[in-house]
Amino acid sequence: MPRYIFITGGVVSSLGKGLGAAALAALLQARGYSVRLRKLDPYLNVDPGTMSPTQHGEVFVTDDGAETDLDLGHYERFTGVHAKRTDNVTTGRIYSDVLAKERRGDYLGATIQVIPHVTDAIKEFVLSNHDSEDFILCEIGGTVGDIESLPFLEAIRQIGNELGRDLTCFLHVTLIPYIAAAGELKTKPTQHSVKELQSVGIQPDILLCRTEHPLPDDQRAKIGLFCNIRESAVVLARDVGNIYEVPLSYHNEGLDREVVRHFGLPATTPDLSAWTRICDTVANPEGEVSIAIVGKYTSLQDSYKSLGEALVHGGIANSVKVNIEWIDSELFEEEDAAVEALHHVSGILVPGGFGERGSEGKIRAVRFAREQNIPYFGICFGMQMAVLETARNLAGLTGAGSSEFGEPDIPLVGLMTEWIVGNETQQRSAADDLGGTMRLGAYECRLESGSLANRIYGQDVIHERHRHRYEVNIAYREALESAGMRISGLSPAGRLPEIVERADHPWFVAVQFHPELKSKPFDPHPLFTGFVAAAMEQSRLV
Ligand code: GLN
Repeated sequence: MPRYIFITGGVVSSLGKGLGAAALAALLQARGYSVRLRKLDPYLNVDPGTMSPTQHGEVFVTDDGAETDLDLGHYERFTGVHAKRTDNVTTGRIYSDVLAKERRGDYLGATIQVIPHVTDAIKEFVLSNHDSEDFILCEIGGTVGDIESLPFLEAIRQIGNELGRDLTCFLHVTLIPYIAAAGELKTKPTQHSVKELQSVGIQPDILLCRTEHPLPDDQRAKIGLFCNIRESAVVLARDVGNIYEVPLSYHNEGLDREVVRHFGLPATTPDLSAWTRICDTVANPEGEVSIAIVGKYTSLQDSYKSLGEALVHGGIANSVKVNIEWIDSELFEEEDAAVEALHHVSGILVPGGFGERGSEGKIRAVRFAREQNIPYFGICFGMQMAVLETARNLAGLTGAGSSEFGEPDIPLVGLMTEWIVGNETQQRSAADDLGGTMRLGAYECRLESGSLANRIYGQDVIHERHRHRYEVNIAYREALESAGMRISGLSPAGRLPEIVERADHPWFVAVQFHPELKSKPFDPHPLFTGFVAAAMEQSRLV
């Protein structure tokens, strides 16, 4: 039977609950335990796939093709445990399952209610689909006190009752704000937040208090007293310089010690050497390199969460600090000369994206990178734009476009209506719903021997995660290859171009999938390692 840790948040949102959960899981792994992390999201969307990235941040895609909350990305990056479809659920998903059951008549005439039907569905989600891990960590999205979270809190309260304290632990993350005018840290919001939790029948076992300043001992004692929590279980979460310091920082404050103590497990010493190494490398880089990300959702960096992290990992692999310049591609459309601003960067990356707005600016950025011999890395939409750039400017296909933007003269990037997953053919049409109907999840890709991609991966067959609706049309392979663009990665049946590259350029690689989703600080993705290395090389030339 696994032990369950439920993580809730209070006072304000954006407290870093997801990071806290991920860091705690990493600390439990460092003590030799196996873990699985889950996220329960109270919003009504069935999944975040249809939400704008500027609303909810990046959509993280799992190997098995689920579109999930970005916190699952933190979970994977901190633990290396690959998330599954069954690790993220929303109110929308729970309700649509309950209502489908009701329509089928599965409830045998009962009146369907939040308690017990919705709460039972949540409990079933929490308690099933694991592989006998030692710990299941379940984060509840939102803030305690939100109307939407109530059924989730009720469900975890019931689980706590049914399994008992030996098998469940409630961890509450709060904020201790600093009031500059008074020069004081304030504990009252935390007290209120715990009261709110107690009012729905949950007594937190451990508090993780976010604070910018050290908390005097008497204040910590006061929190313990007012919140009915052992003083040592009031753990401070001081702000740190970079997120990979979080596991070490929480360990130093006693978080994992309190968790194993709660469960009556032996007080062993965790092996934190991997985290110490990562932090040392990040803190003492041997150089710096600037990379431009030319995208559309640059106003909210959470939209490209995994991408930013994967570049940090590429920096760790090369012992350098990567400085990211976020550039809105529309700037290059307003003013021709604007693209010259890219002269001082050592690498240009066009990430994933949707829709026509900003696409011409991205194509301009690709052209600049190609002509100026600046390392170029295209991801998903960034590959489609790279292919259009070569087609239009080198292959004479001036009418080349993507059917995502209407009906181009030459549909070089087009809607793929059929593809194979395992033994099954999946079909799509332009009239399908938008939710959950893209090519999603891990697919096999075969690399052409001797290609740059082949050398970078050191493998002939790879599996990478996808999230897109359109594909580069293989019918134009010859036209592209005669213009110097090699298709170096293909789907097993040879129909879907997965990677393109240019031999006449120092480092020009564009991929149809999202490699950033699989990069980890302790296992940087080879494409990011290679791109940052090429950018370092470039910075020596300038
Ligand atoms: N909009 C493009 C497509 O759907 C690319 C998607 C992406 O970059 N994730 O194919």
